[in-house]
Amino acid sequence: MTLDNLDLRKAGLKVTLPRVKILQQLETAVERHMSAEDIYKALMESGEDVGLATVYRVLTQFEQAGIVMRHNFEGGSAVFELADEGHHDHMVCLDTGTVLEFLDPEIERRQKIIAEEHGYDLVEHSLVLYVRPKKQ
Ligand SMILES: [Zn+2]
Repeated sequence: MTLDNLDLRKAGLKVTLPRVKILQQLETAVERHMSAEDIYKALMESGEDVGLATVYRVLTQFEQAGIVMRHNFEGGSAVFELADEGHHDHMVCLDTGTVLEFLDPEIERRQKIIAEEHGYDLVEHSLVLYVRPKKQ
C-alpha cells in the first residue's frame, strides 16, 4: 500500500513539499524503520533541501495524524515507520542498530492467555527483543 497526497489530505494535513518528500522517503526506503536523522540524510543525498528541524516537525505531525508510528527503542534515537502494516513485533540488533520485524502466532496467542489469566483483556502490546548476531 502506498500513501499519496490524498492520504495527507485525509489525515487533515495540507500537502506541502517537505511532507510529500518525507512521505516518499518512508515509502521507498529499503529500511522501513528510520530515525529523523536517517530521513534527513537520505533527503540531502537525493538533493532535497529539507532541514532537520522540519523533518522532526513533519514526523511529529505524521505521528499525530496516525500516518507513522514512533518507536523509542533503547540505546538509539527514535525510529519511525509507516503505519500501513498490520501488527508486528520488533527485534533490535545492539551491535548494528538493525531493526527486524517478526510476528509469531504462538507469542500472540500466549500473550492473550496470560492477560486473561490475570483477569484482563489484552488491548495492545509492544514487544521488542534486543539481540546480537549469533556467535558461529
Ligand atoms: Zn516495524
